[in-house]
This record gives sequence, C-alpha cells and structure tokens, in this order.
Amino acid sequence: MTLVVYSDEFALHRSPGHPERAERAVEAMRFLEGMPFFNKLRIIEPVMIDEEKILNVHSKEMMERVKNTVGWLDPDTYTTENSYRIAKLAAGGLVRACDEILKGREENAFAIIRPPGHHATKDRSMGFCLFNNAAIAADFIASQGKKVLIFDHDVHHGNGTCDIFYDRKDVLYQSIHLSPHYPGTGMIDEIGKGEGKGFTVNAPLSRGVGDEGVEKLLDEIMLPIAEQFSPDFIIISAGFDSHHSDELGGLSLTIDFYGEIIKKFSSVQSKIACTLEGGYMLSVLEKGIASEVAALAHEPLHFEDNFEGGRDADDVVIKLKDLLSSYWNL
Ligand SMILES: [Zn+2]
Repeated sequence: MTLVVYSDEFALHRSPGHPERAERAVEAMRFLEGMPFFNKLRIIEPVMIDEEKILNVHSKEMMERVKNTVGWLDPDTYTTENSYRIAKLAAGGLVRACDEILKGREENAFAIIRPPGHHATKDRSMGFCLFNNAAIAADFIASQGKKVLIFDHDVHHGNGTCDIFYDRKDVLYQSIHLSPHYPGTGMIDEIGKGEGKGFTVNAPLSRGVGDEGVEKLLDEIMLPIAEQFSPDFIIISAGFDSHHSDELGGLSLTIDFYGEIIKKFSSVQSKIACTLEGGYMLSVLEKGIASEVAALAHEPLHFEDNFEGGRDADDVVIKLKDLLSSYWNL
C-alpha cells in the first residue's frame, strides 16, 4: 500500500507573505482527499525525529541555531516559536515512512511535509529549509547497511543534500535543476570526491527544457546509473517549482511528467519515498503531488496540461556521458 505522511501541525510553521506557506501542505492534502483512489492510501501522522538522528547529518551548532532562533536564519529562511518542533516533525515523518517501507509493511510513500529540506547543509539552514529531511532519511537508511539513491527534481539544485553525501558512495545523489539559478551550485563537473567520486550526478539545464529533453536525460544518464548502482531504497526530492507555470520555475515540466518520473524510478526499485521540497503555485503543487501519489499507488490519473516549445538537453547528456563513463557504463 502507499503511505501518505501528513499533519495539520505543519501549518504552525508560517510567516506572513512568505511563498513557503502553510497552505502548501493543507491544500495539497485537501486535493488528494478528492482523488478517486484516496481510500486506497494509508494516511499516517509524523512523529518527531530525535536529536541524535539530526546530529548524524547536521552540526550541533546548526541544530541549536534552529532551536533557539525566532526570526530569520538567512534572508529567505524564517523560524517561529513552533518551527524547531515542526522541522523535527517533518524529518521524523519522512523517516517514519522509510522505516515502514524498509520493514516491508508498506510498498512506498509520499511525505507531504514542510518546511522543505534540500538546501540545508551540514552547518547551515538556508533557502526556506531548516533541516535536510531527505538527507536525514537517507542517512537513517544507509546506517542499516543499505544503498540509497536520491533523485531531486526541484528546479533548484539541492546543494545541501549534494554536499552532505559528496564523499560517500553509499548514497548516490542525482539532480536536475535550472542553471544559472539559486543557489548557484550543481555544476556539471561536480561529480563527488574521494570514494564518492562518480556518485553525484548534476544536470544543470537551460530554461524551458520541457518533458522531452528531461526524459532523454533520465533514459540515457540517470536511470542507467540508477540501475547499475542498484539501490535498496530511492528517495525522491519532489519539488514542483520545475513546472512550466511556477513563478520560481523554469524547467517547463508538465503535471503528468511527475507521475512518469515515479514510474521510471519504480522500475529500478519499488521501495520509494517521495518528500515534498519546493513548489509555490498551489494549483500546480496539489496536482503534481496527486500525479506522483497516483503513480506510487498504480492508479491511472491524467491532467490536461500542455507546454509547447521545449528544447533538447543533448549538450548536458553528452557532457555527463563524458564525465561519468569511467564510473558507469553509459
Ligand atoms: Zn525549489
């Protein structure tokens, strides 16, 4: 069965006028409740992560800063008196879902959690992200001797996740993102270091690439590497600001394509947990999440949504083959 992690408590982390707002999770869950397959899902409440698991990924100073700050951690990233608790609930929700899947109780999951996580580095909260939910969950799974693939389809590079696992070969990070764009990292030649060399795959893409260009990149680079890596678990950093109409967007993906991404990665490993990252247009966010949940639950779902005028990403495909062919058969 497909798990969905959600809590009304996520709405307690909020700041007036900020795009990373409470309605994101609330409206996404309400929309999902209206889907014909909703009764086939199992909805679970998150539980707060313990500090020990946070400290496996983040520094003590960073954790204390989130705990003790009410205000701004950087010009983009707010905290309220509830935020430390809610951030622990978000990370804990994803970890609980991963644990249920690892124990064989459920097939896969979507965690509708916030604040998001992929910009949070070992030492710093940034870009709306307090703790790195995906990284905490990946480290939790890897600590059990398992290999984890993280695929990140947010329009922004997940610099935090990339950085945390940059020298590790048990967690492979793949990202598609707009470049140049915030936060300025994720260049194509950032492929890992030490024994982690070849275990980071960054695909910086130009504005307006669209489904077809990204699909070719997935089919020729990301999925062949995923198959050869043979992960025991896949985490999807699900950011929907890569949609063609998102105002912070630029990759010009369509709604149905998010479901296609899930189907493609499910063929590599069925143990998948998606975790909500960015996506700031509620009408896109709710449909994108529904599309991925439907794919996880093997239910048909289609939204009318077209984008004309995509471009190929062949230059990125060719360069990545060149950079990574000594590590993978591409
Ligand atoms: Zn984003």
